Amino acid sequence: MNKNSIPHRIYLTEDQMPKQWYNLRADMDALPPLLNPGTGQPLKEEDLYPIFAKALAHQEMDAATRYVDIPEAVQDFYKMYRPSPLIRAYNLEKYLDTPAKIYYKFEGNNTSGSHKLNSAAAQAYYAKAEGLKGLTTETGAGQWGTALAEACSFFGLPLIVYMVKCSYEQKPFRKSVIQTFGADIIPSPSDTTEVGRAILKAHPDTTGSLGCAISEAVEKATSTEGYRYVLGSVLNQVLLHQSVIGLESMTALELIDEYPDVIVGCAGGGSNLGGLIAPFMRDKLTGKANPRIVAVEPASCPSMTRGRYAYDFCDTGRVTPLAKMYTLGCDFIPSANHAGGLRYHGMSPILSKLYHDGQMEAISVEQTKVFEAATTFAKQETILPAPESAHAIYGAMQEALKCKESGEAKTILFGLTGTGYFDMVAYQSFMDKKMQDYIPTDADLERGFSQLPKVED
Ligand SMILES: *Cc1c(COP(=O)(O)O)cnc(C)c1O
Repeated sequence: MNKNSIPHRIYLTEDQMPKQWYNLRADMDALPPLLNPGTGQPLKEEDLYPIFAKALAHQEMDAATRYVDIPEAVQDFYKMYRPSPLIRAYNLEKYLDTPAKIYYKFEGNNTSGSHKLNSAAAQAYYAKAEGLKGLTTETGAGQWGTALAEACSFFGLPLIVYMVKCSYEQKPFRKSVIQTFGADIIPSPSDTTEVGRAILKAHPDTTGSLGCAISEAVEKATSTEGYRYVLGSVLNQVLLHQSVIGLESMTALELIDEYPDVIVGCAGGGSNLGGLIAPFMRDKLTGKANPRIVAVEPASCPSMTRGRYAYDFCDTGRVTPLAKMYTLGCDFIPSANHAGGLRYHGMSPILSKLYHDGQMEAISVEQTKVFEAATTFAKQETILPAPESAHAIYGAMQEALKCKESGEAKTILFGLTGTGYFDMVAYQSFMDKKMQDYIPTDADLERGFSQLPKVED
């Protein structure tokens, strides 16, 4: 194809959409196993049955199956909002005066406003297919709670969402959207669980935290007959479902005879980035290609760039299995940052291993720079990005500016994970010049590391 005739938006037909997810672990060296927090012994698949639906527990542990069929009902669900467009950022390129070609995969075209619906659909489907009676989860910023409420209402499954109390109060319309889809939403900490009542007794004025909401959701699921718990990021199963992002991107790039030199994504728990890079990392691990891969995280919550590669809990309540990952310690509470979806102490074990093995890079960035990039992008490309997504925009712009200096016409691909309509308080504080950058000191981080569980490995 004539490179000058590449359209702004490259859409796949329904026939070209993936019919299988790709399991990157099949092409990686083995991950360190999940450990039982009580015994310190490696977990077996059955150990996860009380928490997760069986099919999902299987996916969590399965490192052997390279391609996993996407159930037809999930494929049909995807067709309501996918394929998502791959967009050539012609106007941003012009604005930056760069010879680089910038492409982005836009996942914000659904009501949740993010990529999270890709895994929510799969998790709700498997839970319903297994005859479960309902699901519980937590949500911080609200995107995951919305996505799961959409999927559960579609597949006919009751859902209880524990929403961190301060977000519940600050984002009343998130709550209304979740309720519109029929889910129950409870501000956390609450008096509906033992752990919630204990926290309320000790700290009556607390506004909650993600770790506390996770602990409540897990307790509710394991103490209610027929209920299971679901999580929207970090887990291997979530990265598997999100591989649909990377697979679609690769097919769309093939149609225009392109291959990325650099792939950039934001990293909170690592699910969108893990999904975006999956087939490209396959090429890298099998020696077929060698793209650079860059994770961008907030300077206020720098799990890869300043964290430790160690066994840690996935929640603050210390009830989940132990995973080996880059972590700031499960007690680390990141300072206020407007990219709620990136405020997580740990990182996907898959991405953690790839980073540890030198297969990818990571940078961290202060939020004022992120909102500068977000505003520039909105004006050039007319999409109002989520603050989380704007981390990837910042990273991609940095790469494009490097190309301007070197004169190289590299191909850059980045993940635009969502839209920012519920984040206008943050945008307003940026415009009013009231936004501040919080960067933890080494001493702050040491406090988190000192609480890491002692595990022989
Ligand atoms: C949740 C979220 C993220 C971060 O989660 P990952 O699991 O790291 O992908 C990024 N962008 C948006 C819009 C989100 O909602």
